[in-house]
Amino acid sequence: MSEEKAAAPVKKAGKGKYELDDRLKAYQGVWVFIEHERGEVHPVSWELLGEGRKLADKLGVTLSGVVLGAPDLATRRFCEEAFFHGADSCYLMADPILTNYRNQPFTKGLTDLVNTYQPEILLLGATAQGRDLAGSVATTLKTGLTADCTELNIDMENRSMAASRPTFGGSLLCTILTLNFRPQMATVRPRVMGMPDRDTSRQGTIIEHPLVMIETDIITKVLEYIPDNMQGKPQLPFADIIVAGGRGMKKAENFQLIWDLALVLKAEVGASRPVVQANWVELDRQVGQSGKTVRPKLYIAAGISGAVQHRVGMESSDVIIAINSDPKAPIFEFATYGIVGNAMTILPALTEAFKQQLAIAKMAG
Ligand SMILES: Cc1cc2nc3c(=O)[nH]c(=O)nc-3n(C[C@H](O)[C@H](O)[C@H](O)COP(=O)(O)OP(=O)(O)OC[C@H]3O[C@@H](n4cnc5c(N)ncnc54)[C@H](O)[C@@H]3O)c2cc1C
Repeated sequence: MSEEKAAAPVKKAGKGKYELDDRLKAYQGVWVFIEHERGEVHPVSWELLGEGRKLADKLGVTLSGVVLGAPDLATRRFCEEAFFHGADSCYLMADPILTNYRNQPFTKGLTDLVNTYQPEILLLGATAQGRDLAGSVATTLKTGLTADCTELNIDMENRSMAASRPTFGGSLLCTILTLNFRPQMATVRPRVMGMPDRDTSRQGTIIEHPLVMIETDIITKVLEYIPDNMQGKPQLPFADIIVAGGRGMKKAENFQLIWDLALVLKAEVGASRPVVQANWVELDRQVGQSGKTVRPKLYIAAGISGAVQHRVGMESSDVIIAINSDPKAPIFEFATYGIVGNAMTILPALTEAFKQQLAIAKMAG
């Protein structure tokens, strides 16, 4: 942080309360960076607009999307989609240089927008692109960034965003306020926040702003696009049903019981960290703090104790069914339904019962 900027922009105004100076007060509004690639917006952007709407309403300010991309109709349509998902306005920076994501022009574009229009809050997805961009934008602007937040709120006394995230290995939750700098920046992983309803009657204002940069200013060039081939890879964050297994499955061969139930339910397979560390399944299937955050309609957890580092990745599931031989297992404290018993006998029984019920339902049309 620069000394100049850090020089007491907030004044203490009573216990735990600070008063923003005029320079910080000039920053108004909540912004969400709309991330896209190859014509597709990352769903985390819509999730963040849903959350941003709540923050903006609490502050009594406008919510805006920020779209940087090629000067074409598709990019413009992302602004309309932002309105459908809750934005009041959308900042659009369209330039051929911004066709593909590159850190340098996107950092320049986004920091120019922030310096010109001065939002008080800027949210980005904690995706590969969002993390890359958020870090460089925050350091360029010399402001605070809270990464991987699990909850966002407004501390009304200080008119500051209260950004919560796990700390000390996930054993504690801390809430961070950025009192001295604006904008207050945060990243949130996909599926941590709910998806807002899409309302196609909503409209908004598009504010266009040019990118002040030419191609020869940029040191990176895009030579070829090699898609990240996600086909065949688990898409846990977007699965409707997940059957997950933990160390209580005892050995790799028993984990087949998880796959059998998942196959019948057309579900994805998830796992706790010890299972991944034992190489029973690949890393992409780990659920939790250092794995994926999921939000399925149904999460079946077999032989998983419910440690906080696993819990933070799946507790937003609509329905959680826990199978555990220990009636005192922590997972029963937050599961919707609990089955106390041996997963090795309960899982095959569930698989058989679901098979029969689904066959009956199919026959009934
Ligand atoms: C920095 C950090 C990050 C971490 N990140 C993650 C993460 O992303 N995801 C994650 O999962 N963990 C993570 N962990 C590890 C986490 O703390 C736990 O150790 C882990 O979640 C425990 O996995 P488990 O529930 O499979 O195993 P255990 O805690 O060993 O639980 C096994 C459970 O199986 C039950 N059981 C035993 N036999 C049977 C049976 N026959 N039938 C039914 N139930 C049975 C037991 O009663 C027990 O409750 C992290 C830890 C740290 C420090």
